[in-house]
Amino acid sequence: MISVQGLYKQFGEVEVLKGIDLKIQKGKVVVIIGPSGSGKTTLLRCLNVLEKPDKGKIRIGEKELDFAKSVAKQEIHAFRRLTGMVFQNYQLFPHMTALENVMEGPVTVKKEAKAQARQKAMDLLKKVGLVQQADQYPFQLSGGQQQRVGIARALAMEPEVMLFDEPTSALDPELVGEVLKVMKDLAAEGMTMVVVTHEMRFAKEVADEIIFMDHGRIVEQGKPEQLFINPQHERTKQFLRLIE
Ligand code: ADP
Repeated sequence: MISVQGLYKQFGEVEVLKGIDLKIQKGKVVVIIGPSGSGKTTLLRCLNVLEKPDKGKIRIGEKELDFAKSVAKQEIHAFRRLTGMVFQNYQLFPHMTALENVMEGPVTVKKEAKAQARQKAMDLLKKVGLVQQADQYPFQLSGGQQQRVGIARALAMEPEVMLFDEPTSALDPELVGEVLKVMKDLAAEGMTMVVVTHEMRFAKEVADEIIFMDHGRIVEQGKPEQLFINPQHERTKQFLRLIE
């Protein structure tokens, strides 16, 4: 479903991704963990080309981008639509209601008819438990509610893969659970998901696979029971000791 080959990214002099190779099967939930600054967010942002890699190939389904060659903007836009991104800080449009936020992509990018987009958006708001809040603006919603709108908005574009960049780390602790619940439900429905998170319980319970990154490389990759209980690399062991 997703394949990444020899991905490199540097910011100025700093090499942030130093040759990432990765395969993710359809319907799997992959959680990326690792120390701050190890390149987790950059990898995720490369997957939907919010950051343009310097080198390497990314394939999602049938579409492949090879960053060794020049890639046209149009190709990037088409590729980006394969993934839905959920951001740490929600990034909702502040001047739009929850419903309008969810409808925006389908109407402006996909040119869907408004009535149809509205119906679909209402269904998605129902799915994330926010029908009552459809006409409220982001400032009227709690962080957990805003993030659930963020998830509904990403789903509205009907992506093949959902990417989550620390979706709960800006939330007060009591609001984390409601967002993780929505993510768990999505996983149970068979959505392919790549999640950068510090929520180790979620990782243990929901992930099919854990990727441990350090200094721009994948150090270790495995099933949660394997990686958490019997890590192979010293750096993984150290990291897990620190977060326990
Ligand atoms: P993580 O998600 O693991 O904390 P990031 O991918 O956010 O790591 O960042 C990895 C490194 O890349 C950090 O040193 C960070 O400062 C740097 N970095 C990330 N984005 C940018 C950017 N847009 N410009 C310059 N440096 C960046």
